Amino acid sequence: MPDFVACPRCDAPVPATALVLKCPRCGEQFFREAIYEEPPIDAPPPEPEPDEAELNAKRIRAVALEMRSTARLAMWSRGMAFGCVIGAGVALYRAWGHATSGDRRWTWFAAFAALLVWGAARLWMRAKRLSAELHTMRPPEPSGPPRFDGLGDGSASAASRLDALTDLDATPGDDRA
Ligand SMILES: [Zn+2]
Repeated sequence: MPDFVACPRCDAPVPATALVLKCPRCGEQFFREAIYEEPPIDAPPPEPEPDEAELNAKRIRAVALEMRSTARLAMWSRGMAFGCVIGAGVALYRAWGHATSGDRRWTWFAAFAALLVWGAARLWMRAKRLSAELHTMRPPEPSGPPRFDGLGDGSASAASRLDALTDLDATPGDDRA
């Protein structure tokens, strides 16, 4: 009774009768030795456990990246809201000018101003929501002072830059963590 080896393509049992075997189901030709050298299909080599510190660093990087994009979006929304307010002011001014000179087109400008005010309100609300979201985001494992330079209104970034400067002045071995 011949031994059977699994076909590398379709997994069908193939009688190991020769050095070169041919699968009866799919017609795949393969070397008998090649199959024997391969590890069993249902027991793949275990993936090496990722280093815990490396995982933490990855998580912190991911959170920092998300925080950065959220901060950027909040800043953009706030800027656009300001732009809308300025646009609305200009449109209102034009509407006033048209209205006082008896031009009926003042309604168009007034409607446009209203639209811009509505847009500004929406954008401002979004900026506020994003800022609140940003405050709930925290790097998972505070295994050291996290520094997200370029985030926020700039004061945090300036503070950390100041920290870096004072760190340079610190004597080596001075552990003030
Ligand atoms: Zn096969």
